[in-house]
Amino acid sequence: MTPATDAVPIFLASRNGKKLAEMERILAPLVPGVRVLGLEDVVAYEEPVEDQPDFAGNALLKARAGLTATGLPTLADDSGLCVDALNGMPGVLSARWSGRPKSDHRNNELLLEQLADVPDERRGAHFTCVVAFCHPDGTELVVEGRMDGRIVHETRGSGGFGYDVVFAAVEHPERTTAELDPDTKDATSHRGRALRAIAPQVAAALRGRS
Ligand code: IMP
Repeated sequence: MTPATDAVPIFLASRNGKKLAEMERILAPLVPGVRVLGLEDVVAYEEPVEDQPDFAGNALLKARAGLTATGLPTLADDSGLCVDALNGMPGVLSARWSGRPKSDHRNNELLLEQLADVPDERRGAHFTCVVAFCHPDGTELVVEGRMDGRIVHETRGSGGFGYDVVFAAVEHPERTTAELDPDTKDATSHRGRALRAIAPQVAAALRGRS
């Protein structure tokens, strides 16, 4: 990941390469001098089972486990898609909505099938992202970001990951978030909002002024 010598390290505890790239892209300019480490940069450890009922619980679980295993300030996110017509599901089950092994393609097929008869006015949905930060000095921070929009009728676009191909944000209703350039997605995304909210406190904690 980001090469630097005298930079302050922070560990991003995620196995999802595309999500990790998004987090690093958003965080780097907001936390100057940070060196982002991923799972491949640290000694392997047993990652926790994401068994909490909400995003905050899972994000904290991952950040605490990362800190315990590496001793490094650790950031983790838990995120997902909440669909109005499915009473807020898939929610924390987003990554494995169509079962295991996890497949974005099958998840999107299943979601479109489940909404096949749902008219436009009831296709509302939002993404939620909770970011948790744990520092060796005992600091624990949790923030949430949200992006509102709707589920389109067929997959479109090649950017992003996960459900981006079926989701159009309120701010860009004609395009799915997979059709937005990365900066445009970050400006409105749940992850961008959460990371922008937490970044000043993360920067302060890394500088020893938490
Ligand atoms: P997590 O790794 O448990 O947080 O899983 C999050 C899942 O939610 C991902 O695998 C995606 O299916 C979905 N998701 C979260 N954020 C996004 C996004 O920005 N775009 C598309 N799908 C997302």
